[in-house]
Amino acid sequence: MHIVLATHNAHKVAEFQGIVARVRPDLEVVSYDGPEPIEDGTTFAENALIKARTAAAHTGLPALADDSGICVDVLGGSPGVFSAYWAGHAKDDHANLALLLDQLSDIRDPHRGAHYNSTIALVTPAGAEHTVEGIWPGRLATAARGAGGFGYDPIFIPAEQDGRAPDGPERTVAQLTAEEKNAVSHRARAFVALQPLLAAL
Ligand code: IMP
Repeated sequence: MHIVLATHNAHKVAEFQGIVARVRPDLEVVSYDGPEPIEDGTTFAENALIKARTAAAHTGLPALADDSGICVDVLGGSPGVFSAYWAGHAKDDHANLALLLDQLSDIRDPHRGAHYNSTIALVTPAGAEHTVEGIWPGRLATAARGAGGFGYDPIFIPAEQDGRAPDGPERTVAQLTAEEKNAVSHRARAFVALQPLLAAL
């Protein structure tokens, strides 16, 4: 049996293949290669469902899609679904991060709270629709630090600082190893919530 994944991000494909292999080794993950829907939802769940519905409809297979972003408390949850294009449609990670830092330049701790959200949709060809969510709480640094990860990782300080050196500085996600990030990230948390849905498929 096959399951189709509606993403072109090679990194995400590998992550999804890993989780599906653990929970449902009988399922083969294939990449979606059809018409792209307009992501005009106003929530992560709506956008994930839009992508999963399109992939399920065009392939006749159960489909997985995700949508993710960063939500800043003092901005009422923005950038949210606009995370990828916060500084404009050029989709430039560095410009997005710089704009967010600038917007928060007068805001001090403890008002710099934020979280990452990863929402995954599972849609079957018969029309069953599910969404699960993973939240990674933290706050924003006042300057970027670290070279790992992508997107807003150099300014996101996870609330839980497991593995930090005793008395060492708090680390941003860009200062974690990929393994450390992937064990506790919003996507990892959404994957945990997805497991029972995959098992029941
Ligand atoms: P998408 O889910 O691939 O559409 O990603 C949306 C946007 O959210 C990305 O372009 C990033 O700006 C941001 N984002 C989502 N997940 C992460 C993450 O793990 N680290 C940093 N930025 C992220």
